[in-house]
Amino acid sequence: MEDLNFRKGDAKTEVFGSNRMLQPAPVDKIPDGPTTPEIAYQMVKDETFAQTQPRLNLATFVTTYMDDYATKLMNEAININYIDETEYPRIAVMNGKCINIMANLWNSPEKADWKTGALAIGSSEACMLGGVAAWLRWRKRRQAQGKPFDKPNFVISSGFQVVWEKFAQLWQIEMRQVPLTLDKTTLDPEEALKMCDENTICIVPIQGVTWTGLNDDVEALDKAVDAYNAKTGYEVCIHVDAATGGFILPFLNPEVKWDFRLKWVLSISTSGHKFGLVYPGLGWVVWKDKKYLPEVMSFSVNYLGADITQVGLNFSRPAAQILGQYYQFIRLGFQGYKEVQYNSLTIAQYLHDEIAKMAPFVNYAKDVVNPLFIWYMKPEYAKNAKWTLYDLQDKLAQSGWMVPAYTLPNNLENYVVMRIVVRQGFSRDMADMLLGDIKNAIAEFEKLEYPTTTRIAQDKNLPVATKVFNHTGKPQAAKK
Ligand SMILES: *Cc1c(COP(=O)(O)O)cnc(C)c1O
Repeated sequence: MEDLNFRKGDAKTEVFGSNRMLQPAPVDKIPDGPTTPEIAYQMVKDETFAQTQPRLNLATFVTTYMDDYATKLMNEAININYIDETEYPRIAVMNGKCINIMANLWNSPEKADWKTGALAIGSSEACMLGGVAAWLRWRKRRQAQGKPFDKPNFVISSGFQVVWEKFAQLWQIEMRQVPLTLDKTTLDPEEALKMCDENTICIVPIQGVTWTGLNDDVEALDKAVDAYNAKTGYEVCIHVDAATGGFILPFLNPEVKWDFRLKWVLSISTSGHKFGLVYPGLGWVVWKDKKYLPEVMSFSVNYLGADITQVGLNFSRPAAQILGQYYQFIRLGFQGYKEVQYNSLTIAQYLHDEIAKMAPFVNYAKDVVNPLFIWYMKPEYAKNAKWTLYDLQDKLAQSGWMVPAYTLPNNLENYVVMRIVVRQGFSRDMADMLLGDIKNAIAEFEKLEYPTTTRIAQDKNLPVATKVFNHTGKPQAAKK
């Protein structure tokens, strides 16, 4: 057998002097023999070397910066499987403490020492668990009434994150969408209730809509739901998808009622790995009370010195994120979280203001309520522009920035927008560098003699790649 790893004397050869570095990396077949760890490391590392710097990625919501102690703590726990509770009982207790802290941040009325909630790999799993619980509660009621329970549905705005499409498909629960429009930029409670009937398992308002950064008005929805339930005798409830807002509102807008202070909010989910400030993957779901978590979803363990309820779609999963979350709670405290979120929001607002000053652009919304926002090209500017936001995305990528351009959901699909998410680790100085790069890009685009290919496609309303370009057509665009 040919030894790919060693030329004569290769053990002492510098990594980049080795024969292995002259060979292609394996694609479909495991290599015949071993490679030295130094070389294997370098090959794997180098394959991702050229990618965008995570902190210049303004597309993602997910944590890309933690301090050295948090990183050390999480690395030290890299080999711990959360499910091995008997081996690591303190981690299960720590998980329970994190759930308690989350529940109290969301004003849980539950009196028990251990609040009812669950750890998840992200908001996706947490949303699934909240949704499944609502479905099972509804089903139990229907069974008790001797009524059919084969056509469940839930109601959400068209600004839903893809997890809700998965929830609908995987559990075969009909998703009813309230369209977002330029006038109704968030979920309209009355429209939502028009879509409800006896088969509605829940309504899902979003705090930090992925597409726009806005918050649905949960307090208004709760009021409308209360009147609706009183009139119909149904028990339509609310699950709040607070993937982003769950860690923003308690710190920056504690007076806004969106959480367990509201009557029909029975469960809330969030992403610990977004503004919970922990590396992926971590999510949390909390129920208002134990009675809203169907027993079939949970099993209790009694060997931890406390009664801890365990719920989840996964079995094995890493525990390091729990240590990371608990560390952040201790390290930052309420005040520290508030300061970090305040800075992210303030920098987002600063960028929002500066973008508004640039001739080609108009912001989608007046206010920035979460540390993210979207903007689009003014229709009157777009009429004569030789470029599009997709060109700007490409241009910025050349300087390492990832600023995504995309079309809005149904009814607003003619709007091509651009989004910035500001996370911990994005400073005012970086914001100024980004603004400088945007201005330079515009100056270059304005010198173009001929329209770019995306501009041509957009003007002809042709699909380019998988995207539909056209934001010049709609008459209401001029209003914004
Ligand atoms: C990010 C997000 C999700 C999915 O969360 P993950 O943590 O990535 O699984 C669900 N809903 C909303 C509103 C989100 O922003």
